[in-house]
Amino acid sequence: MRSRLILVLLFILGAVATVFFGKPHKDKAGDEWFFHESISELTQVIDSLNTILADTLSIRIACVEKDGTLGGLLFATGIEGSRYSNCCTIFIDSLGWTSVHVGDTLEAVYSRGMLWEVRARPRRSRGYYSIIFEGSSEPSNWQWVAEERWTRLRSITLEVRSSVWESIAGGGMPHDLTPSGHIITARDSIRKIAFIKEFENELANRLFIYDIDFYHDVQPGDKVWALIEEIRYPGSSETSFNRIIAAKYDFILGGMTEALPFFHQPDTIAPGGTLVILDHYHRDGASLRTMFLKMPVPFGRISSEYSSARMHPVLGYTRAHRGIDYAAPMGTEIYAVGDGVITVRGALGGYGNMVRVRHANGYETGYGHMSRFASGMSIGSYVRQGDIIGYIGSTGLSTGPHVHFEMKKNGTFVNPATEILPPANPLEGDNLDTFMKQLPILENAWSLMAGNGIPLHQQESTSGNSATP
Ligand SMILES: [Zn+2]
Repeated sequence: MRSRLILVLLFILGAVATVFFGKPHKDKAGDEWFFHESISELTQVIDSLNTILADTLSIRIACVEKDGTLGGLLFATGIEGSRYSNCCTIFIDSLGWTSVHVGDTLEAVYSRGMLWEVRARPRRSRGYYSIIFEGSSEPSNWQWVAEERWTRLRSITLEVRSSVWESIAGGGMPHDLTPSGHIITARDSIRKIAFIKEFENELANRLFIYDIDFYHDVQPGDKVWALIEEIRYPGSSETSFNRIIAAKYDFILGGMTEALPFFHQPDTIAPGGTLVILDHYHRDGASLRTMFLKMPVPFGRISSEYSSARMHPVLGYTRAHRGIDYAAPMGTEIYAVGDGVITVRGALGGYGNMVRVRHANGYETGYGHMSRFASGMSIGSYVRQGDIIGYIGSTGLSTGPHVHFEMKKNGTFVNPATEILPPANPLEGDNLDTFMKQLPILENAWSLMAGNGIPLHQQESTSGNSATP
């Protein structure tokens, strides 16, 4: 409960900070920001932090130029004597930073005149080598710090022209997607395509897949609003798409549909812990999702239906087929059809490489014959609907690349094609209350962000002077 509150608070603070840093604060006589007090508090905190840091911290930065060397960088940032030789040894022998290139930078952080940390940032990497001195002449620790990244929120408004893809390309692209702000190199255009593809996929194939038919319902003139999370990488001006926090789709022919966010802990099947997930709901707390995807592959042909008796192609005798086979090219992604916990992940007889996932409401799904498993997961991992858990293969008793997809309910096999699948769980009880309380606060923040004017603080009938001149 507490962790969720903190998260919600962080989210709101994030939104406030985005608004605050996103555009200069214009004082308009008589108007009062809903978040005015939080913002001025935030500013005070930042100001006092800066004052403290400015007194104590100095950072010397050097950048590799043509024919630059590591030694030159160290000298340029004031590192000498035994620290110099220590840094050389650690960078080259322990951290493997064997050659410097034009554009690499070195930062030496001094606190009250004493060397605290040395950071080396190879230009093409997202991360840095760190050597910690903490004032001593001998380093106390060194490591590669990967993927230093921050997220920021950005509000996007699009008008659909010929397709959603094109409207994202036209209006939904951050100008700082690439270091130069322009599409110059092939790598820039790959980044641009990746951004649009991920945004469109998230919007059309995940968020609104059950509410909007993007082939038939979409009309030029429709409007899309989305609050997206972008990832920023310090040391580089690039940004990339992370996820959609909230979205609204307005149809020009009338009607609209919304995806409203709620951060919460996964349901009881997940191992206890601090994991907080983001789900999207309609205004009444109903989920935007169904409990399961229709199939575990992005595209595929059913090569064998569920049956209680069939001739097995490999074994050569009649045996029930308690699942559905989807044939797809070798290496095609296989998705978890619903949120759940991995219970099996390994070679399992005729199933070959098999993953099983336990879901809420007594369901379990299985995926067989994989060529390989998705990395970074193990038995006990919590997976979300649509997460890649493995890749199409032909391991075990199999005649060609396909996934054997099976489903159990309360321990008994059911046919995934005919099983009446429940919608994803709606918000209920405390969660629903919190969702309803959060909604007006979030919407105030969004309208600030969307530049729809500054909402007035709603006050119960104030008597006397009106604030407006
Ligand atoms: Zn099968």
